[in-house]
Amino acid sequence: MVEDCHRARRSPGTPPKIVVSSNGATIAQFHSQPAFRKSLLQADVIDADGMPLVIASRLFCSRPLQERVATTDFIHTASEAAVANGLKFYFLGAKPGVAEEAARRLRHKHCGLKIVGIRDGYFRASEEKGICEEVQDSGADVLWVGLGSPRQERFAVEHRDDLRGVGWIRTCGGLFDHTAG
Ligand code: UDP
Repeated sequence: MVEDCHRARRSPGTPPKIVVSSNGATIAQFHSQPAFRKSLLQADVIDADGMPLVIASRLFCSRPLQERVATTDFIHTASEAAVANGLKFYFLGAKPGVAEEAARRLRHKHCGLKIVGIRDGYFRASEEKGICEEVQDSGADVLWVGLGSPRQERFAVEHRDDLRGVGWIRTCGGLFDHTAG
């Protein structure tokens, strides 16, 4: 997945790929919440955000996971790939002002990074379609969605068709808070 991030370019009319992150809590929710399980099973890629999952896969799976993908590291790999390939990000989530600060820090670290839209994660269900239109109009290649689980996974799956053209939807939990410091 880390090597693939340059492939996130938008493609008109095509629904985005959904890339989600998993950890121990995700696995617990997967087993206890049928609606969450349904959302997760519609993702195109599920990253393991933690070594315990990689170790468990080595013990129990015939095709063990290759690597751990910590979202807080991955954002920098993805930002480098975005600068090199001219990809644009949209940040959706966290409290007002937090994703703006995360964007400021990332632009400072990755010169030339294009973040074409930012919106906090406190909105009503009735606003979701409008937000998707805003993301589409922004020309973003990658929509980072940090709304916490299971809301972010539900948002990604429910709005995949409303976000046609966007290359990837990448769920990211508390990434914006972490990056904003
Ligand atoms: N959040 C949000 N909208 C909500 C609920 C939560 O934008 O309605 C944000 C919250 O501000 C935080 C992130 O979602 O930035 C949740 O972070 P957490 O580390 O708890 O993610 P999880 O472990 O649930 O994936």
